[in-house]
Amino acid sequence: MSGDELFLGSETGTTAYREAMERATDAVVSSFDSTDNPYSGRSPEALSGAFEDPVIPETGTGLEAAIDEAATRILAHSVATSNPRCAAHLQCPPMIPGLAAEAMLTAANQSLDSFDQAPAATVLEGEVVDALCGLFDLPDVSDGVFTSGGTQSNFQALLLARDRYCHRQFGRDVQSGGLPPEAESLRVLCSEEAHFTGKQAAHHLGLGEDAVVTVPIDEDRRMDTDALDAILAELDTGDANPFALVGTAGTTDFGSIDPLTELADRAAEYDLWYHVDAAYGGALALTGHADLLDGIERADSVAVDFHKLFYQPISCGAFLLGDGDDFGWMARNAAYLNPEEHDETGVPNLVAKSVQTTRRFDALKPYVAFRAIGREGMAALVEETLNLARDAASLIEEATDFELLHEPTLNAVVFRYRPREAMSDAAVSRLNANVREQLLHDGRAVVARTEVTGVTSLKFTLLNPTATLDDVAEMLDVIRDCGAAVVRDEEVVA
Ligand SMILES: *Cc1c(COP(=O)(O)O)cnc(C)c1O
Repeated sequence: MSGDELFLGSETGTTAYREAMERATDAVVSSFDSTDNPYSGRSPEALSGAFEDPVIPETGTGLEAAIDEAATRILAHSVATSNPRCAAHLQCPPMIPGLAAEAMLTAANQSLDSFDQAPAATVLEGEVVDALCGLFDLPDVSDGVFTSGGTQSNFQALLLARDRYCHRQFGRDVQSGGLPPEAESLRVLCSEEAHFTGKQAAHHLGLGEDAVVTVPIDEDRRMDTDALDAILAELDTGDANPFALVGTAGTTDFGSIDPLTELADRAAEYDLWYHVDAAYGGALALTGHADLLDGIERADSVAVDFHKLFYQPISCGAFLLGDGDDFGWMARNAAYLNPEEHDETGVPNLVAKSVQTTRRFDALKPYVAFRAIGREGMAALVEETLNLARDAASLIEEATDFELLHEPTLNAVVFRYRPREAMSDAAVSRLNANVREQLLHDGRAVVARTEVTGVTSLKFTLLNPTATLDDVAEMLDVIRDCGAAVVRDEEVVA
């Protein structure tokens, strides 16, 4: 292929681009049309068998062959995230407006680190961030930045929290001087159900995972505020220095939402940085259930993911600050108390707000999606899935061979297959683990596993607004089939 055929910019390039995009689109569409199942069931060994010829051949095969090969080798054996029986993780069916925006932003290839690499994109990201701050009722001085997702947003929250605290408490500039001698005394508080990336961030920030104090949960799997009070009082009398409190709005397994207002009160009382991890539940702000997020408006920082309940293609997240001046704690060029987001020419360069340098123009996706279908349209999708989760929970509760483990708050439903009531927890645990194994090979339903009080359990994350209760019933039947196969195999072995 000649240079003209490989790059946009000439008539030949335009034709080649159209043809390539059309062929890629056809490949995606036929991968959907070829099967009703969310996964082919291929094992890891069988999959690696498809890649025996060289990844870097001496001469290429041409683009058409390369696209077609990617379709047969990879798309055909990908989990079909748009299939209604793909219901394992917080991995959404990407909506078509987002897919169109993704095609546009990758072709434009703007990089959000500096204005001269992304002029309109820089301005638009600011506009989207302002709209999001408005959605969560954050103060006028709020600000934010797009991130790769909740992991990066949670990391950035604890980075800023740590550095603000070390400056105020120990007079230490962590950016230049590193951690203070007192670093071992630093503590972060979150619930037992908080996402693991809080601990991961503590590790990456040089504090260690042991710096994270996990607060017990109540019967609804929300942070227990009495337990929080007891822990805060105890830390207060000792040598420890708690500096941040993390509330979760939508835990990964159960979708539970911590009592955000009570947590905001404790953070204010103990002068803690208040971070709300709303990676999963942030989308409630669009809906009639926005009151479940009351208290989020008092957060120092918020993590929200668009590649979950906002239906945008991966990756797409945002990190919001109640007070935009807090970006100053990580500014590269300015003294941290003099946060300069504009260089001397008055041009906004976003690099100082991000832990990334070259950065994708992901803000285009929610922008195009919101413009296309409005808040109302997006809210209707989310509500559809909340209703489905409630109905799915009833279905599971009524079934004599299943055990429902909670009433869903969002659209995650955790349950166990328990065909005989008399089964011990150990036997149920083994059975559900084996059923999950079988499901992976079966391919008719993609379902997650999790541990609840040490017992292996199953989980639906019902993110697909086009899925119906019939789809859920079908998944339960597939689980029954796999369960029967497991029992048969055990009898053969015995
Ligand atoms: C998904 C999730 C994360 C991690 O976010 P990524 O987008 O995967 O980086 C963190 N916290 C919660 C509550 C999540 O649901």
